[in-house]
Amino acid sequence: MSESPADQVNHIPDTMRAVICHGPENYQLEEVAVPKPGPGEALVQVEATGICASDLKCYHGAAKFWGDSNRPAWAETEVIPGHEFVGRVVQLDDNAADRWGIALGDRVVAEQIVPCWKCRYCVNGEYWMCAPHDMFGFKRRTPGGMAEYMVYNKDALVYKISPDLPPAQTASYPALRNTDPASPRSSRSLRAPRTHDRRWRGE
Ligand SMILES: [Zn+2]
Ligand SMILES: [Zn+2]
Repeated sequence: MSESPADQVNHIPDTMRAVICHGPENYQLEEVAVPKPGPGEALVQVEATGICASDLKCYHGAAKFWGDSNRPAWAETEVIPGHEFVGRVVQLDDNAADRWGIALGDRVVAEQIVPCWKCRYCVNGEYWMCAPHDMFGFKRRTPGGMAEYMVYNKDALVYKISPDLPPAQTASYPALRNTDPASPRSSRSLRAPRTHDRRWRGE
């Protein structure tokens, strides 16, 4: 980690409360270590997290998350759920600050998809089509917002949000961007393409 103590806006505790998904219908509120942001990442104190239809489907064991005889599981266990979130930046390095145009104390959201940035779609700028992508709240590499703190992964797409907007209204912003597994309709109001959502339809 490259950040100095002066980069920390608040006292950051060692542990936090977080929901941990151990599998379908096995979500537990636990005390876990506060995650440490790596180079180019930001630690965010979560202000609000949405509960999406796909969170409920995942909770209840839907095959598109946990697999069946025709497909492997996509979701992973031992993951903090929550892919619609907003929070305040409490720690980051210069790389993250410059790349995302954010600073300590800013209210920020991230798109729920965390693209690989290496596949042919990502290289062509069509990151929403990224096949090997991770997604906040479903993959161990990208723990979600049902916790007191979370890391905005270095590969995430991060946006500063007005401090005047209530957190409860901004938490669903990531779902409106383009890639929400349960909200293909919502992208219509924004210019982002919807192709990525096809994988989630008809299930
Ligand atoms: Zn969602
Ligand atoms: Zn990719």
